[in-house]
Amino acid sequence: MLPVTVVCIRAGAVVADHRTAANQAVAVEHGVTGLSDLVALRDALSAQQSVEEFDVRFAQLGTTRAAASLFVGVDLSSQVVPARARADHAIASLGSGSPVQAGALASLYADIDGGGISPTEAVQRFGALIEVSATAVASGLQQLQAQAQHPPLVAALDSLRASSDVVEASMPQAIDLSAIWFPAPGETPQMVAAGLARFGASSASYTAAVARLRALGVTSVVGNLTRVEADTEVQAFDQAVAATLLGHPLTEAGAAPDLVKVADAFRGFLTRSALLDGLVATSTAAVRDEARLVAASERSGFVAWAVGGAALALISIGVALWLARSISKPIKDLARYAHDVNEGQLDVEPSLSRNHGPRETRVAFGLITDLVANLQLLDAKTNALAHCDFDDPVLREPLPGRLGRSLESSVALLSGSIVERDQLQTHLAYAATHDSLTGIGNRPAAIREIQAALNRAARTGDTTALLFVDLNDFKAVNDSHGHEVGDEVLRQVAARMTDVLRNSDFVARLGGDEFVVIAEAVVGVADAADLARRIIETVNQPFEIDGFRISIGAAVGIALSLDGPEEPFRLLARADAAMYRAKRHDRSAMEIFDVGMQQELIERDDIESALTAALEDPAGGGLILQYQPVLNAVTDELCGVEALVRWDRPGHGRLAPISFIPIAEATSLIIDLDCWVLARATQQMVAWSAIAKLVGLRVSVNISGRHVLSGQLASHIRVVLENTGIDPGRLGIEITETVLLDDLVEAAAELDAVRALGVSVAIDDFGTGYTSLAHLQQLPIDNIKIDRSFINHLDDRRGRSLVRMITDLGHAIDLKIVAEGVETAEQLDLLKAMGADFLQGFLFSRPLDPEAMSAWAIDHVAAGHQPSTPVA
Ligand code: C2E
Ligand code: CA
Ligand code: CA
Repeated sequence: MLPVTVVCIRAGAVVADHRTAANQAVAVEHGVTGLSDLVALRDALSAQQSVEEFDVRFAQLGTTRAAASLFVGVDLSSQVVPARARADHAIASLGSGSPVQAGALASLYADIDGGGISPTEAVQRFGALIEVSATAVASGLQQLQAQAQHPPLVAALDSLRASSDVVEASMPQAIDLSAIWFPAPGETPQMVAAGLARFGASSASYTAAVARLRALGVTSVVGNLTRVEADTEVQAFDQAVAATLLGHPLTEAGAAPDLVKVADAFRGFLTRSALLDGLVATSTAAVRDEARLVAASERSGFVAWAVGGAALALISIGVALWLARSISKPIKDLARYAHDVNEGQLDVEPSLSRNHGPRETRVAFGLITDLVANLQLLDAKTNALAHCDFDDPVLREPLPGRLGRSLESSVALLSGSIVERDQLQTHLAYAATHDSLTGIGNRPAAIREIQAALNRAARTGDTTALLFVDLNDFKAVNDSHGHEVGDEVLRQVAARMTDVLRNSDFVARLGGDEFVVIAEAVVGVADAADLARRIIETVNQPFEIDGFRISIGAAVGIALSLDGPEEPFRLLARADAAMYRAKRHDRSAMEIFDVGMQQELIERDDIESALTAALEDPAGGGLILQYQPVLNAVTDELCGVEALVRWDRPGHGRLAPISFIPIAEATSLIIDLDCWVLARATQQMVAWSAIAKLVGLRVSVNISGRHVLSGQLASHIRVVLENTGIDPGRLGIEITETVLLDDLVEAAAELDAVRALGVSVAIDDFGTGYTSLAHLQQLPIDNIKIDRSFINHLDDRRGRSLVRMITDLGHAIDLKIVAEGVETAEQLDLLKAMGADFLQGFLFSRPLDPEAMSAWAIDHVAAGHQPSTPVA
């Protein structure tokens, strides 16, 4: 747009110049008419003045105009009428612009014609009017020259001025000449000489004006001038002038003039005057023509530039628009294409602009097209991957460009991870049914197999035998040789068992050192017993591992499917029970499930359902809690009680926990029992809060490991705390060591949550498991309760050192030591000497009913022992 603007401004300026020039030329054209009128007025007045001057002259010479006219043969008065007509005409056409008023002239004429003034006065009054007219001519000329710029027009105006000058210079020549030719009487020769000099000067100015006019070279004017000079009458006047200037006047002073020559010269002058009027007219016409030409050419220049400029502007705007469109269209197309691609329309064809338009948009089109190709290919590849079609050739097709290479690696990664996932799935499917350690079936697979075998047996009427195999002393192998050796033993046992089985038999590891074998279509008990014996025999063979010779044995329980519908878990429970019986008899033996065992199982079922009912009974169904005091070993003060459950089962008398807790522990019933105990114990704590001497009494409750691992313990405790509002610091829980080791990490997390409530944790029956120091440090606990069996053996050296070790170990990691099962004064002394922190046992009190417990506590305080340091 910048060049367009510049061109337009320039064209505008030129157009304006042309307009101004054209207007000026028109002004000159109009102005020159007025000027010619002014010149005509001036000359007409001069002509009349000359006549009056002649009259003055004639009077001096003592003659009259009429006589002189007769004398030279030219009627001077005849000059007056046309001169007056010319003057009147000029004034009329000048109108208000005339420097001489028609009235003033008319009164002059009246004065002259009426004889009111002398010729001398007339000369003076004409002189004044001529001067005004001449001034107007000069200023008019100046004005026109100021407006003319074109050289031809300037020249034409110059020649008009020169023409005017020629006429002006010509006018006085006749009268000056007459003064030389006819000197007035009394004029001295000096006066005549001065007149001659004056004539010389006026003639010189005439000649100079003529020369200037000719030099200006305006053809028509020069032609006219030439015609004037060629006129014979004019030439006669010229010759007379020349002769006079050369000192040959037509008359000597006092001598009679050659009147013929005088008359010829005078006529020549009049002719020249008339012709010179035509010269001014020609000059005026030349100026007018030139002005018209200039105006026309300027006007056409103006039109040409205006049209050209407009056309140029239009063309420029057109080009600019075309250019803008040729850029904006590809950009718009590019934007639309990019938008479509971004919207996921990969099959959209890029517009034709991809090959046209600016280089930048073409490059961008190319890049997006490449990108689309990449994305399409990528799409195809991911599709192939999604369908796991790893052989699809599209997967091997390379993605173009650098972007393609980086995408390629992602695809490779993706396909790699899909393959890995595939392998993982295969692995998981395998792991779901196989024991990872031994490669034989796992527990879920065993349950499924038992179910399948029972289904088949129900159809065919065959008998299925389930063998439950439990290794002896396997824990000892693990402890003395390490887990790796233990694992190797398990692998070899599995392999040996597989060897002795029939092809149709199925073997699985249930976990730990327990295996099951399913034998279908056995022919009687003997067949199954034979298989059991083969298993025992092969496991009894020593194992050679890492240079160690390891001997272990196995106990086998056998259960046979009975007639009628069977259930896998019941069959498994029977085989398990038989295995237990076998183990009790002889460590490497087998037992076949029989009626006695059946009775035992029935009793267990019976206890289970009765306990369930008792727990659902709001009155407790005979369940009660007894409390056993725990004392501070240093001060003998009562520092807490342990809640112990008993069951007054209707028709069965009071049952000790050992007769129902293990049965409850086999199912989630134990969790309900724990919750019942927690609720009852905390209610008791509320009751004790009302007794001054028992206000802060602490109670610890035994919690099953199953409950800990259920992940519900902390929330169950929170519920009883909220229900009773007791101080959590008064409550403690005890967990048997062995169950903690089953899943250390999970147990630790749950115990953390319990301790976060403000409840303390004790590890119970410590020493019966195999807790290492590292384990102890990992467990979030507060107290260690040394198992009763150790306290029982304080009388031998080994027993003593064990208790001392546990005590020192506990203290080393900031745990308090509780000794339970203290029955004798000797044990008491030894435990005090070893630094046990708390003591519990029949020596102080048996577990007591709540009321008895209260009484005991009040007595104990009364005997001088205050409730003190907390214990779990
Ligand atoms: P435990 O936690 O080790 O409880 C201590 C056991 O030792 C109690 O037996 C107690 O009567 C007994 N005892 C206390 N002092 C002496 C003593 O000086 N000499 C001897 N010989 N024994 C003493 P109890 O009440 O029969 O409890 C047996 C086990 O039953 C408990 O062992 C505990 O593991 C479990 N148990 C008891 N009550 C509950 C309960 O409410 N919930 C759970 N989950 N388990 C409980
Ligand atoms: Ca306990
Ligand atoms: Ca215990």
